[in-house]
Amino acid sequence: MSSLGLDRFRRLLRGEVASPADDVDSAESRAILKWLGLGSVVLATCIAAGAAIATLSLRECVLLAVVAILALTVALLLKRHQWFHRTLAAERRHLRTAVDNIPQGLVLYDASARIVICNTPYIDMFGLSPDIAKQGCTMQRLIAHRQETGSFDGDVEAFCSAIIRNVSLGRGTRQITEAPGGRAIEIVNKPLPEGGWVATIEDITPRKRAEEKIAHLAHYDALTELPNRVLFREKLEQSLKELKPGARLAVLYIDVDEFKSVNDALGHPVGDELLKGVARRLRDCLGEADIAARLGGDEFAIIQRTPHGAVDTERLVAAIYDEIRKPFECAGHLISTDASIGIAMAPADGLNLDQLLKNADLALYGAKGDGRRTYRFFEAGMDARAKARRTLELDLRQAIADGGFEVHYQPVIDLQDNKISGCEALLRWRHPQRGTISPADFIPVAEDTGLINELGQFVLETACREAAKWPEHVRIAVNVSPVQFRNQTLALNVATALAASGVAPSRLELEITEAVLMRDDEAALAMLHQLRALGIRIALDDFGTGYSSLSYLHRFPFDKIKIDRSFVKNIGDEGASSAIIEAVVNIATASNMTTTAEGVEQEWQRELLRELGCTEMQGYLFSPAVSAAEIARLIPGARKTAISAA
Ligand code: C2E
Ligand code: CA
Ligand code: CA
Repeated sequence: MSSLGLDRFRRLLRGEVASPADDVDSAESRAILKWLGLGSVVLATCIAAGAAIATLSLRECVLLAVVAILALTVALLLKRHQWFHRTLAAERRHLRTAVDNIPQGLVLYDASARIVICNTPYIDMFGLSPDIAKQGCTMQRLIAHRQETGSFDGDVEAFCSAIIRNVSLGRGTRQITEAPGGRAIEIVNKPLPEGGWVATIEDITPRKRAEEKIAHLAHYDALTELPNRVLFREKLEQSLKELKPGARLAVLYIDVDEFKSVNDALGHPVGDELLKGVARRLRDCLGEADIAARLGGDEFAIIQRTPHGAVDTERLVAAIYDEIRKPFECAGHLISTDASIGIAMAPADGLNLDQLLKNADLALYGAKGDGRRTYRFFEAGMDARAKARRTLELDLRQAIADGGFEVHYQPVIDLQDNKISGCEALLRWRHPQRGTISPADFIPVAEDTGLINELGQFVLETACREAAKWPEHVRIAVNVSPVQFRNQTLALNVATALAASGVAPSRLELEITEAVLMRDDEAALAMLHQLRALGIRIALDDFGTGYSSLSYLHRFPFDKIKIDRSFVKNIGDEGASSAIIEAVVNIATASNMTTTAEGVEQEWQRELLRELGCTEMQGYLFSPAVSAAEIARLIPGARKTAISAA
């Protein structure tokens, strides 16, 4: 309605709508017509009356009539005058109401830059006095008044003459100024054809804030408030352009390890909290000129200015690991996480944006391939390794579809009676071109791609089916990856494999590494307890590698500790290996756990382990992992077919 009012007002000023004068003209025509009609009637009536009475001569009759007509005319003109003024006043009131009810401030100036109309919103907008901002006031006086009252702080003369010059040349102007309180004011001056101009003043603060919000959304990540990929690229592009000769910068790609499993196991709200926490800590590690961004999902990036090159980056990486490895409190869960970091340096690894990003990505890929939880600087040759890994991934998918896997079994020997007490299931991949590929090479790829869930299920089902053919006292051990372990259906899958094979839960042993317990999350512990409740045994694998903290033994009551072959290898040396094995065996015995020494290749190793109190051993000394048919030959009493399979 108000902009309609303004429109109407503008059209009125351009003479496109009927003015009160136009209305008067048409009323006048109507009045003349009326008057002519009335005059003729009066004239005829007077003549007829005079003639009828016959006391007046014709001349007197006509005179009488003329006097009567004159009197009528004067009365009519007076009436018309009053009507004209009433109409004009009403139009003015309407106009005033209209201009006072538009949201914009409006000032109409005449050709001599004096106010014709200044509306109330203008007066209110700047807190002016209506006694000054009124008809007849010059523009200079008005702006000077604004300066006195604090809503204008420029040069009054210069400001006014610039506008007057422009409008006198028929040029409109538009400018945005800042008003007290951080408000944004848009001023539009529009010249009028008949001279003078209309100035509209609009408080565009809400519109500007909305525009700023949209621009913010387009450049920042809504969850973490960090710059997004778009802004990150812009900033990097700009940083590369501004890079002075001899100066360097680093691009870090950071991937939160196993974020997906946190998200899957604990839900998106917890995952979101973790990402927010990671973003906060990354920001805390940065120097003033550095920029952190979230590229999407669990991928972050940093642009670091490095006056001293890689040394600065090493320092930043150390700070990031320090921060990120502290547990996060997320929606009531305590979560430990880690990160893989890939680094490319400019100008050494590229001065071109895409080249640099590609190299940072390859370095990240390298860090992931080297077991995650670590960082890598870009090196030539990473491209070829990445390609090889991608090929391996494709082959792996194909092999899963074609059934190119087999499970082999390595016997575990009781050190007291030298009999087979169990077997460890170990996966084998027979590649059509490359021959047998070691699980050490393809398990990390399967973990990265999530294919480990399918593979793990295959091993579990196959191993249980095979164990069903062995005597009851021979256990079956299956390796479970940390990735697989966080799948909420793991306990259900295990129960299904047991039920399908008819193997007693007490015969199944799941081997997990400390990586499962490294995150302090309750979901992992809850899953372990769930599995234990099924009657399954849980072994801590590869003890002696990685962090190998005995504190993991307090987190969960394991049934067995498997001592890594790196300890067994050095057992006879002067080093601390045998002392450590002895300590582990003592702790295990005190807590009702058994111990298995891995990688026993020599008779003297077996003897030493027996003396140290180890329960079991496995290794090439007795047998490597062999096919199902061969293991059945090695286990006395094993059958060729299962009798209890469902
Ligand atoms: P691991 O669980 O520590 O398995 C023992 C590894 O040591 C096996 O290697 C085995 O063949 C090897 N080994 C056994 N005895 C000796 C010995 O006397 N000397 C030496 N030098 N090595 C010996 P493998 O089969 O290549 O498996 C490597 C790793 O791959 C395994 O280490 C395990 O972490 C992983 N893996 C194998 N199968 C599976 C599986 O089904 N699922 C999962 N998640 N991981 C698996
Ligand atoms: Ca194992
Ligand atoms: Ca092991």
